[in-house]
Amino acid sequence: MTVEELRRFIREIPDFPKPGIVFKDITPLLADGPAFAFAVDRISERYRGKVDKVLGIESRGFILGAAVAYALRCGFAIVRKAGKLPHETLRASYELEYGVDSLEIHRDALHPPERVLVVDDLLATGGTARATVELVEKLGSRVVECAFLVELGALGGRRKLEPVPVFSLVRYEK
Ligand code: AMP
Repeated sequence: MTVEELRRFIREIPDFPKPGIVFKDITPLLADGPAFAFAVDRISERYRGKVDKVLGIESRGFILGAAVAYALRCGFAIVRKAGKLPHETLRASYELEYGVDSLEIHRDALHPPERVLVVDDLLATGGTARATVELVEKLGSRVVECAFLVELGALGGRRKLEPVPVFSLVRYEK
């Protein structure tokens, strides 16, 4: 398997969830054992010994992030849409490519000075990941890098996350 081959498993759905958005559907990639394992391995190997906790963003970030955390033998923490977490939370608002929303994390999810890897399926404008980085920093920990399966390069998410580094496996320029 190569990164170029991985691209074939990402399906494009035009005008979902609203007109003008081309949704990158990763379910064919998840459904293929070698493709899913390749993606998780490529992300995990980059961080071996370099992070203490993996933080997954709802909801597809949970799928990838949990697999990466398992591979690294790290703990896994979650960031969810507002109102879903049951214990005491911190909240940050963000803009999505298609809307505005808030994210929350449990106040006891991280233990400073843990080195945190943020994982999500896709980087678009960067609003979601930026809000997640803010939550980590408010809790006194440090984001080592934000890792994504897919990056939509034209939307500039990477710049929005500066100075936090970004890694992506599959990049689309437009
Ligand atoms: P953003 O905050 O703009 O970087 O958006 C990233 C979040 O929205 C990720 O959690 C993605 O799952 C989702 N997302 C945004 N745009 C797309 C897209 N074109 N295809 C699939 N998911 C997307």
